[in-house]
Amino acid sequence: MQAVTGRIHSIETCGMVDGPGLRFVVFLQGCPLRCRYCHNPDTWNCDGGKITSSEEIVNEALKYKTWMETSGGGITLSGGEPLFQPEFAENIIDRAHKKGISVALDTSGFGNLSKTSNCLDKADLIILDIKTALPDEYKKLTGVSSEKTLTTLEYLKKIKKPLWIRHVLVPGLTDDIAQLTALKNLLLDIPTLEKFEFLPFHKMGEQKWEQLEYNYTLTNTKPPKPDFVSKITKDFSLAGIPVNGS
Ligand code: SF4
Repeated sequence: MQAVTGRIHSIETCGMVDGPGLRFVVFLQGCPLRCRYCHNPDTWNCDGGKITSSEEIVNEALKYKTWMETSGGGITLSGGEPLFQPEFAENIIDRAHKKGISVALDTSGFGNLSKTSNCLDKADLIILDIKTALPDEYKKLTGVSSEKTLTTLEYLKKIKKPLWIRHVLVPGLTDDIAQLTALKNLLLDIPTLEKFEFLPFHKMGEQKWEQLEYNYTLTNTKPPKPDFVSKITKDFSLAGIPVNGS
């Protein structure tokens, strides 16, 4: 199999949150979204990062195969937006599978299915961040239309792909009743949803925005109150959504 080159931002060798078990997480470079709460704005530039090959990545991951196997883990392709480099991502998945390693794709779902469907078909798990279920809010939050993400979600439902969905709770931005109700209704209509998580907003990326001279608009936004997170977690659970996998 011919190796494919692509751009990566970085690798985390012992990830514990981006999929089941212990993860070898590859952050791919480049993202077409501009989420206002992004904590990795240094992954946005599609000409940045380090050029590497799919073969090098899987060879590196193989060093950790034993602990991936014993923990039920694998490789996670994250970003940036991994679907922004679909051939590179697909080749990593193919190579990993040949070595008996499963691969999760951590994505916003923003991509053209004509280019991304092979990746979506081949990944063992999709971790999807749909940002918000309301199109107008999506545009305000990310700078792009939600159409591609929703089309990807429909495709994933059609192919019955195991899904985890995460939602960043940003006070004043993604936590109003209209958005949470729309999100809940969307989640109730996904039979292969294995796990849903609320991720409380944090400002760990703020310094990167400043260094890159980007305009960070959430300086005065605080993390959501724990009581509120508990209340909506309970509400989603009672509706039958597998919050935190339960
Ligand atoms: S999709 Fe992810 S990497 Fe891209 S801007 Fe949004 S949070 Fe940042």
